Amino acid sequence: MNKEQRHLSVTAIENGTVIDHIPANNVFKVLRILDLENNNNMVLIGDNLDSKKYGKKCIIKVSNTYFDANEINKISLVATSATFIEINNFEVVTKKQIEVPDQIHTIVKCFNPNCITNVESVPSWFTVVDKEQMRLLCHYCEKITSKNNIVFR
Ligand SMILES: [Zn+2]
Repeated sequence: MNKEQRHLSVTAIENGTVIDHIPANNVFKVLRILDLENNNNMVLIGDNLDSKKYGKKCIIKVSNTYFDANEINKISLVATSATFIEINNFEVVTKKQIEVPDQIHTIVKCFNPNCITNVESVPSWFTVVDKEQMRLLCHYCEKITSKNNIVFR
């Protein structure tokens, strides 16, 4: 094992997911949304790394865990720049760039407390009317849930 491989063995994960390019101020939201506080696998957080493209950024590495499209979609609400890199046997298998979906179902609560989705057991349904600012138009009550009001179910 040469010097570089030893270095990698400390920082790399054998199997799992590296979430790269997370804006530094949103790293704890990402941890919460992916429920990584309750993940029994190794979770490594690289905080305030310099990125030429994004300024300060964070990396999260989670061993033996992969995320499905529904979970990746949730991250688009707090970290659109993030990339999900799946690692298998120390090799990068796939890189998934987050895309903000046109519609968001179920995962976000409507901001309007009187909305039918908050009163009855109707799943929420939004159209993303502004992907930059993350403004979500409720299909039922037609109120806008904005970035600062997003609460996950
Ligand atoms: Zn609503």
